[in-house]
Amino acid sequence: MNKYNEIIKAYKNGYAIPQFNTINAEYTRYILEECEKEKSPVILGVSEKVAKHLGGFKVAKNIVDGLIEDLNITIPVILHLDHAKSKEACEKAIKAGFDSIMIDYSSYTLEENIKITKSLVLENPNTIIECEVGTIGKNGNEGIIYSNLEDIEKIKRETNAHLIAPSFGTVHGVYKGEPRLNFNLLKEIKNKIDTPLVMHGGSGLSDENFKESISNGIAKININTELKQAWTKSIREFLKNNPTETDPVYITESVSEELKKVVSKLIKIFGSNNRI
Ligand SMILES: [Zn+2]
Repeated sequence: MNKYNEIIKAYKNGYAIPQFNTINAEYTRYILEECEKEKSPVILGVSEKVAKHLGGFKVAKNIVDGLIEDLNITIPVILHLDHAKSKEACEKAIKAGFDSIMIDYSSYTLEENIKITKSLVLENPNTIIECEVGTIGKNGNEGIIYSNLEDIEKIKRETNAHLIAPSFGTVHGVYKGEPRLNFNLLKEIKNKIDTPLVMHGGSGLSDENFKESISNGIAKININTELKQAWTKSIREFLKNNPTETDPVYITESVSEELKKVVSKLIKIFGSNNRI
C-alpha cells in the first residue's frame, strides 16, 4: 500500500501528516492548494455526515480527483472516512474509492471493536484501516476515558490495524481550560505496538503539545474544529463588511485566506512541509 507508506515515513521520521476534515469542493480546494504550496502530504477527512451532505461518497471522491487533476496537485493525497459508525458505511466509502477508513467502535466492548476492525482489515487489503480505543472526550475535557495499554496491545495483535487512535487526553471540539495530555501513556503505547498513532481533537492545542505527541508516535493529526471556526469567522466578517453582496462565489471565496492560514500554520508545526 503506497499511501500507507506515507504515514509510515512520517512515523519513522518524526513528523505527522495532517488530516484536514473537509466539507465541500471549495474547502477541499483551499486545503489542497496550500498543502501543494508547502509540499506536504495530506489526508482529507470526510465524515458520514459530510458525505451525505455532498450527495454521497462518490461525490466526495470525484471532487478530490477533479481538483487533483485540474489544479495539477502532485503531493500524496489520502481520502479518509472519519469516524464511521458502521461496516456498511466503510464498505460504501471503499467502493467509492476512499483510500482509508476509520471504524469507530470505541463505545462498544473491546471484543466487538476487535471483531469489526479485524474483518475490515482482512476484507480490504488495499485500504488503510484506523480504529479507536478508549473514549476521546468532547468539548472541554468531558467524558475522556484514557486508553488501557493492554487493550491497545490486544487490538493491534488481533486485528493488525494500520492506525490506532488512543485516548490520551485530547477532546473533539473546543477545550475548556488546559488540556491534560498523558504523554507517558502515549510513550508506553508506542513502545508496545510500534504502529503509527492518530491524534483526534487536535484543534486548539499548543505547539509543544503537538511536538511532544509527535515525538511519542503520533503520525496523523486530525483537524476539524479549527478549520470550521476559520470558515465561519470569514463568512461572518465578509457578510458584515459587504451587506449587499449576493453572489455566493464571492461570499465563499472570502474563506480562502483564513483557511489557508490555518493549514499553513499547522503543517509547519507538524513538520510535514517539504517532504515531497
Ligand atoms: Zn475524531
